[in-house]
Amino acid sequence: MLKQVQRAYNFNAGPSALPLPVLQRAQEELVDFRGSGMSVMELSHRSSLYEEVHNQAIALLKEVYGIPADYHVLFLQGGASLQFSMVPMNFLPAGKSAGYVLTGSWAEKAYKEAKLLGNAVEVASTKDESYRRIPRLDELHYSNDLAYLHITSNNTIYGTQWTDFPDSGEVPLVADMSSDILSKPIDVKKFALIYAGAQKNLGPSGVTVVILRPDMVERAAQNIPTMLRYDIHVKNNSLYNTPPTFAIYMLGEVLKWVKETGGVAEMERRNREKAALIYEAIDRSGGFYRGHADKDSRSLMNITFRLQTEELEKKFLVEAKQAGFVGLNGHRSVGGCRASAYNAVPFEACQALREFMIEFQKQNG
Ligand SMILES: *Cc1c(COP(=O)(O)O)cnc(C)c1O
Repeated sequence: MLKQVQRAYNFNAGPSALPLPVLQRAQEELVDFRGSGMSVMELSHRSSLYEEVHNQAIALLKEVYGIPADYHVLFLQGGASLQFSMVPMNFLPAGKSAGYVLTGSWAEKAYKEAKLLGNAVEVASTKDESYRRIPRLDELHYSNDLAYLHITSNNTIYGTQWTDFPDSGEVPLVADMSSDILSKPIDVKKFALIYAGAQKNLGPSGVTVVILRPDMVERAAQNIPTMLRYDIHVKNNSLYNTPPTFAIYMLGEVLKWVKETGGVAEMERRNREKAALIYEAIDRSGGFYRGHADKDSRSLMNITFRLQTEELEKKFLVEAKQAGFVGLNGHRSVGGCRASAYNAVPFEACQALREFMIEFQKQNG
């Protein structure tokens, strides 16, 4: 008899919910992967069986996300945080400047690393507006000889998201997409480099995806530590050293799930529907709940809101936890509440949260 699985209403910001069919498939394959008598974790990373997993994940990401055929897909380690350093190490030569758009804590961290390594400049910032919004494209002022322009497509902590991306012309556009990669269709051709830690929308933690335009490989620095060189990872198909094989396998399974579910267009449709449930509960509350982000900058992934007092927020979070909701507290740096509704968070979880919010307001409004 099949045991009924009790799944939490998981709104964690990352690591976060994974699709149930992916977890079940991994469970089925765990001790004997495709007749090998071994788990994926026990395979040599040089075996043909693992290589198939690795290359299939790359091919699927290209297919599902519409990545041009000549772009490179890399599976690295060190999280998005190491990309904060690798990007300037590889692409910010002496005598050049890199431009950073500051839209939240992660963008600030990326900027800080770049400043340690070279000349980085602030292209725009909404810090003095508590990062409530994404700057308009006409607020971005930068010179055409920037080494690159860096943006953070979704601000996980403040709950804002870019909708239109800059046309940066000759300036390579670099984006940290850790918290919204694969959440909607994008025009990958606009970007010279995209990076994302997998643990929000792509799979488990431990693998970081880098999508790289081919001309960037020739521009990458070669006088830096080998493991930090993009060209080395390109040349070795991310197998220069042992990659995080199990995380890559899981990523491949998540990609299959996205494809079978209808692709990124369907992800976007679902994400809009889910986020609308919660934003509506905020907007119709007459000020009981207050969204942090300006409406036109709202994230579909991370929904940030406050209640009128910290006391009420505390009560809300305690009762939400008792009702089975996980991960609703805001980031420790900003407080308040945050619901992260990534691709794998089901509609039913968002609907349950909406109902909980309405009921809590009735009891405490
Ligand atoms: C989570 C997150 C990071 C940090 O990712 P790590 O993999 O933990 O280094 C960086 N940028 C953004 C936008 C994030 O959401």
